Amino acid sequence: MFGIGVLKGMAVTFKNFVESYYKKERLTTIEYPEKRLAEKERFRNFPFLIFDEKPEDPRCVACDICAKECPPQCITIVRAQDAQGKPLKKPATFDIDYSICMNCGVCEEVCPFDAIFMDHEFELAEYGRFEDLNYTIDRLLKPKEHFMKIRPTDATRIEAELKKKENAKKAAAEKAAAAAKAKAEAAKTQASQVPDTKPETKPNEPAQPADPPAEAK
Ligand code: SF4
Ligand code: SF4
Repeated sequence: MFGIGVLKGMAVTFKNFVESYYKKERLTTIEYPEKRLAEKERFRNFPFLIFDEKPEDPRCVACDICAKECPPQCITIVRAQDAQGKPLKKPATFDIDYSICMNCGVCEEVCPFDAIFMDHEFELAEYGRFEDLNYTIDRLLKPKEHFMKIRPTDATRIEAELKKKENAKKAAAEKAAAAAKAKAEAAKTQASQVPDTKPETKPNEPAQPADPPAEAK
């Protein structure tokens, strides 16, 4: 019959409309902010920096790769220096302008040191559009436990990889130290086996005069 499909469709719509008032699984909205849905693990908003033990020792080595790759160029890094002006492998300042950041996640993708990750935090409204949304290193740094809490799958995988790399580095250092020790011992043994070529001189024996010059013969 003409129009039966439309009627069937409207019936489904009406059924869903009525059920949405009493069937819990059909309630698609919640009373935010009193109620909140748990964020999905892969949800991403703005980036944060990670530290392992102390905030003074972030994983970031100030290589500047993320700043160069950031599409809207909203990352600014200044490398730290020691008292002699020698560059250190950590940032003195690390700013991300959240008013420009477009949540693309490129910084996380390109960082070779697993030092920057996308956060779940989204309630970041501020009165000052520019200065308040320019996040400095003290606001960006978060402990690795935070990463484990929001993204346990990625955090566990990355922790395992870092541990593997650390163990490999340790094993290589131990191997190099053992090789250096073996080389030093071999050199010492060789030196002790070389015969003493100095002529033996008996006590009280006068020293032999040197050969006279050729014309004096
Ligand atoms: S966050 Fe990563 S890519 Fe960016 S400067 Fe630090 S170490 Fe380099
Ligand atoms: S998420 Fe994208 S836009 Fe934001 S800081 Fe990282 S690279 Fe830049």
